[in-house]
Amino acid sequence: MTIKPQPQADNLKVAVIGTGPGGLAAIINLLRLPFVELSAYDQASELREVGAGISINENTWRHLKLLGAAEAIEQYTVRGDGSKIDTEQRNGSTGELISRRYQKVDPEAAPRSRIERYKLQKALLGQVPTGFIQLSKKLAKIVESPKGIELNFQDGTAAGPFDLLVGADGIRSVVRQHAFPEHKLSYTGKVAYRTLIPQSAVAHISNIPQSACFWHTRNTHVYTDPLDNGLFEIATRADEPEEDIKKVSWGQKVGREQVIRHYDNYCETIRQILAAPDEWLEFAMFGGPRLESVISNGRIALLGDASHPLSGAFGSGAAFAFEDAYVLAQALLYTHERKKPVSGALKLYDDVRSPHYKGLYKILNDFGSNAKELEAISPPLEENDYINERTRRNWSAENQWIYKYDMTKVWKEYVHLADAEGDLAALTLQRNKEADQKRVPVIEVEA
Ligand SMILES: Cc1cc2nc3c(=O)[nH]c(=O)nc-3n(C[C@H](O)[C@H](O)[C@H](O)COP(=O)(O)OP(=O)(O)OC[C@H]3O[C@@H](n4cnc5c(N)ncnc54)[C@H](O)[C@@H]3O)c2cc1C
Repeated sequence: MTIKPQPQADNLKVAVIGTGPGGLAAIINLLRLPFVELSAYDQASELREVGAGISINENTWRHLKLLGAAEAIEQYTVRGDGSKIDTEQRNGSTGELISRRYQKVDPEAAPRSRIERYKLQKALLGQVPTGFIQLSKKLAKIVESPKGIELNFQDGTAAGPFDLLVGADGIRSVVRQHAFPEHKLSYTGKVAYRTLIPQSAVAHISNIPQSACFWHTRNTHVYTDPLDNGLFEIATRADEPEEDIKKVSWGQKVGREQVIRHYDNYCETIRQILAAPDEWLEFAMFGGPRLESVISNGRIALLGDASHPLSGAFGSGAAFAFEDAYVLAQALLYTHERKKPVSGALKLYDDVRSPHYKGLYKILNDFGSNAKELEAISPPLEENDYINERTRRNWSAENQWIYKYDMTKVWKEYVHLADAEGDLAALTLQRNKEADQKRVPVIEVEA
C-alpha cells in the first residue's frame, strides 16, 4: 500500500526500507507530512521481534510520546517513588556494589522500564495503518538515475522511481552498502547471549538484585533484570574468537554449556543465574567505523543502526533511531515550507545527526583509553581495583547525556539559529563552544 496525498506537483515520493524500530518511527513521522507519498518495505514475511528486553530511557520515552506509542508502553512501566533502585553496577567477580542509581520521583520523567522487544514493536505498529508495510520485499539492488531511485527486490519485482530513499535496514544495511561501498563491517570478537526465564527459576539464588544490574569483569559483563511480568532477563557479552563463531549467527539458539563456559571467573550469584536457563539466543556482534556522513547523493538517508554500526553499544539504539526519524521528518518539513530541494533537508539531517554519532563513537574511544590508562599504571592495579575503577570511569555521570538528549530542543535551537543567522557556520561555532563547555555532541557544518 502506498499512502498518497492530494496530487501536487511538488509531492515527494519516499521509500523506507526496513521496519524495525527506526523504520517504524520514520513511517509514523513521514505519514504526518501531507506532501509525502510514502511506501515501506521489509524483507520479513511477518513482523516479529527476536531477542529479549529493551530499555526505555528518557530519550526513548520522549519520542514514544511524540510517536503516539507511549500509552501502549506505560502499562509495562514502573513509576519511581524515590526508594526503588533503578540500576546498579557491580563487580562481577566479587559481587561488590560499585554504584547505584534510584528511580526518579518526577511523574513527568520517563518511567523505569525494560520491556520485551515485541511490546515496543507492537506499540509502534499500532500507529501504522494495517497492511501499509509491504512484506517479503528483500531489497537486492538500488539503481540511481536522473529520474530518481529504483528499488529491485529479490523476488524479481521493482518499485520507484523515488525522490528519497530512507535506509532503515539495520546494521547489515544494503542501502549503506550501496551508498558507501567502501565501508566495511567486521566481527568485534564478541558475542551477545540473551534469554528470558521465569523469575521463579532464579528466586532461590542468594543476593539476586531486584533491579537492573550490570556485573562487570575485565573484558565482559552480564546484565540481569527482573522484568514487569514475572520474567527475568539475562543478557551478556563474551569474547569469542572469530574461528569459533559462525559469522552469520544472529538470534541462533544455543544451549547452556555454550554460554556458561565463559563465566568461570564470575561470582557464585552470577554463575548460578547463568546456569538456570536451558536455552539462549546467540548474537555475533558486528560493528564498523563511523560514517563521516549519513546521507548520499542528496536523496538517500541512513537511519537507525544503518547509520551508525555501533554494535548495540549504549543499549539505546532504538532511541537513536527515533531521534533520526524525528529530525529527518522535521528537516523535510522545514525545506518543503521554504520551497527548498530534498537535498537541503538531507544536509540539515546530516548536520544534526552525524555529530551526535561522532559524540557516541568518542565515548567508545574513551572507554578504550580508560582501559589503556589503567593498564599502564605501575605497579599494576589489583584485578578488582581495575574492574571497579574502569566501571566508575565508563559509567560516570558525564556520559549520561546520551540518555537525556533532547532532540526536539536541539532541533528547535538549530532551526532558530539557522533562520536568524542565515549562516550555518555561525551555528557550528556556537554548538562547538557549548560542546567544549558541557561536552555535548558537536555540530559540524561545512563552511
Ligand atoms: C545485543 C543487543 C542489545 C541491545 N539492547 C538495546 C536496548 O536495551 N535498548 C535499545 O534501545 N537498543 C538496544 N539495542 C539496539 C537496538 O536493537 C537497535 O539499535 C534497534 O533495533 C535499531 O533499529 P533499526 O530499525 O535501525 O534496525 P533493526 O531493528 O535491525 O531493523 C532493520 C529492519 O530492516 C529489515 N531489513 C534488513 N535488510 C533488509 C533488506 N535488504 N530488505 C528489506 N528489509 C530489510 C529487517 O528485516 C528489519 O526489520 C541492542 C542491540 C543488540 C545487538
